[in-house]
Amino acid sequence: MGNDLAVVQAARVSTLKDSKGEESDKKLINYLMKNGHTSPFEMVELKFRIKCPLIVARQILRHRTANVNETSRRYTSEQVDFYIPEFFRKQAEDNKQASTEDKIEILYVDDQEIPVSKWVSDLCEDLLDKYEWLLSLGVAREQARMILPQNMNTIFIFKIDLHNLLHFLEVRSTDHAQWETRQFAFAMMELTKEVAPISYTSWEKYIKNRRMNE
Ligand SMILES: Cc1cc2nc3c(=O)[nH]c(=O)nc-3n(C[C@H](O)[C@H](O)[C@H](O)COP(=O)(O)OP(=O)(O)OC[C@H]3O[C@@H](n4cnc5c(N)ncnc54)[C@H](O)[C@@H]3O)c2cc1C
Repeated sequence: MGNDLAVVQAARVSTLKDSKGEESDKKLINYLMKNGHTSPFEMVELKFRIKCPLIVARQILRHRTANVNETSRRYTSEQVDFYIPEFFRKQAEDNKQASTEDKIEILYVDDQEIPVSKWVSDLCEDLLDKYEWLLSLGVAREQARMILPQNMNTIFIFKIDLHNLLHFLEVRSTDHAQWETRQFAFAMMELTKEVAPISYTSWEKYIKNRRMNE
């Protein structure tokens, strides 16, 4: 809902004015962004349908300023699928929450070389079989789901205003954020750029990397 024009109209209602043409509107948006006049950016809302693993969803859904509805595994046991990485990243030594670019692509199990993706996928298939077996015994979905792993995908609708979305993108696109979560932030950036290109470009210029050196 809304675009750059909605930002301009919200800001200019203060003086009972409207758009004054592209150049002037762009100047105004840059001024608002640079000086922290954030409320006009709340006039634009974006709604995303996101499919991501639970480990990523837990992080995205910490952002309380979004409105959310999510698939419930109490209601359905259909379409269970998983995020299968091609490789594992190694734990960083100097940062408790981070991984490095060093990869583990092969695991050795009983002297056998198994690619990480196959090992994860076999494990998930096994858990899925056991989940379906529990359901066939009549176990309630709300309890049977507890054996499904954290790389299971979930789907949710995430509606958020542009001001709070830009905050989300700022903190979830840096190297501090988990690699998997960053990929979702990058995709959401592309979509945001399409909806409100002037506001987005202004944010990229004045806000996005302001915490880089902290
Ligand atoms: C790299 C990284 C690591 C993290 N690690 C952890 C962790 O180890 N454990 C953990 O629990 N969390 C962790 N978090 C989550 C983090 O603490 C925030 O809860 C999450 O990022 C949501 O941020 P937010 O509150 O700014 O965003 P939102 O919830 O979208 O809120 C946006 C802004 O609205 C305002 N706001 C919203 N609600 C309130 C309120 N109730 N009171 C006052 N102001 C409010 C604040 O200004 C806030 O910045 C991590 C986040 C990041 C990015």
